[in-house]
Amino acid sequence: MSPEGQQEPVAERGNAGMFVPRFAERASKSATETLAFKFGGSSLLGADRMLHAASLVRAAAAAANVVAVVSAMSGVTNRLIEAAKKAQEGNTGEAAAVVDALRKQHEAALTTLIHHENERARIRRCLEEVLAEGRRLCEGTALLRELTPRTLDAISSLGERLSAPLVAAAIRELGLPSEAIEATELIVTDAFHGGAEPQMQLTRAKSQARLRPLLEKGIAPVVTGFIGATAAGQLTTLGRGGSDYSATILGAAMDADEVIIWTDVDGVLTADPRLVAEARTIPVISYREAAELAYFGAKVLHPKTLNPVVQAAIPVWIRNSFAPERPGTKITPEGRSIGGGVKALTAIRDVTLISVGGPGIVGLPDVLGRTFSTTAEVRANVLLISQSSSQNDICFIVATVDAQRTVEALRKEFAQDLAHHKVEHITVDSNVAIVAVVGENMRGTPGIAGKTFNALGRENVNLIAIAQGSSECNISFVIEEQAVKTALITTHREFGLDASPS
Ligand code: ASP
Ligand code: MG
Repeated sequence: MSPEGQQEPVAERGNAGMFVPRFAERASKSATETLAFKFGGSSLLGADRMLHAASLVRAAAAAANVVAVVSAMSGVTNRLIEAAKKAQEGNTGEAAAVVDALRKQHEAALTTLIHHENERARIRRCLEEVLAEGRRLCEGTALLRELTPRTLDAISSLGERLSAPLVAAAIRELGLPSEAIEATELIVTDAFHGGAEPQMQLTRAKSQARLRPLLEKGIAPVVTGFIGATAAGQLTTLGRGGSDYSATILGAAMDADEVIIWTDVDGVLTADPRLVAEARTIPVISYREAAELAYFGAKVLHPKTLNPVVQAAIPVWIRNSFAPERPGTKITPEGRSIGGGVKALTAIRDVTLISVGGPGIVGLPDVLGRTFSTTAEVRANVLLISQSSSQNDICFIVATVDAQRTVEALRKEFAQDLAHHKVEHITVDSNVAIVAVVGENMRGTPGIAGKTFNALGRENVNLIAIAQGSSECNISFVIEEQAVKTALITTHREFGLDASPS
């Protein structure tokens, strides 16, 4: 690299006036590097943010192939789901009002973004088609008073189908050719609506066939996040917050060198800064640690995000689109150790403790098996399991949204045993939260549990259940909901997470 090369303008200037320094380093690298970018809803809220996202894509595209994956504008998916529920109640008026509000919101962005009348009209037609589909789906739902998971997917996916054409148009406004693509053309999934799983081989074949020629022509694809389709072409969604997952699925399918998730925070933090003022950004973290944190409620990543990239060891960055000059967090296969072994803390609220038990279960060897085949049947995500050695009680935690259907299924499964008092109770407590202490290097570091529980004891935080997996990179405990903040602050301090990372 020539010294001149290094001194070249270190930034591309987007219309939003933000400088994007990091990509300048790549200017001398091989032009065939492929990056998958993902922009979350808050990074796309309104024309200015979209243009800014577009400028990040354009800057990076000067030296790499960039595939952008976009979420719906912030709040849109929630409103679509509301519209679907209204339609199900037969309330077509309110459902239509939501669709109309979305039309206005996207139209406003379109007007600000695109100056050329023809181009604007062209995109408007795209948006109108999607909106018309939304209206028809709501009408159909209202007519039948039935909202199937398949229809809910079709309705909730409209937000991404509206944002992608706008972002592609914004990129073109900045002079870079770009095309919006619906992920139904790329990501092949199973038919589990609302939480579909990708089929990677088919996805890879489709993505390469569709995206590679565009990249070779210098066109930046903008792909709808959150969405996939079955092999038969039926639209599915990957679950709420699934655009992160879309980005890593496509990153893996396209053999990307890096996946960069642009969000509205500086990266993965040592704790939720709203609860722990001293929280800091972690510079490097391992897949394992990040997955553990995501799984345990750190809102920064969809829990499945890292699955697709593990095998190919593709690094994933979490970076702040509002402050692209900050380095963010790099998620790598190894991470980097810091003293003490504890990297971060996280808390999950909105969880429910379910316990199945009574003295009678001691002699029932299949209670455990039946309990968890039942949770699996209703696809309840079990976040934590704990069984006392007396075997009187199995308790486990699920997300509160899954709790009712889980308990109903369990009561059905154990109806006979409950009637004969072999199982005494199936109880539910939703006034709880999980706090997890996470760090890969906790493995083999004695005393971490002791230190944690001492600190909590000092602060009078009562522990309801404790679990440590044999992976030893996570100690989780269940406490009363109202003790979360105290527990986090104390533990954060105890492990010196407020000190500068090494
Ligand atoms: N728009 C979808 C959601 O809100 C997916 C995403 O944002 O990642 O869940
Ligand atoms: Mg999101």
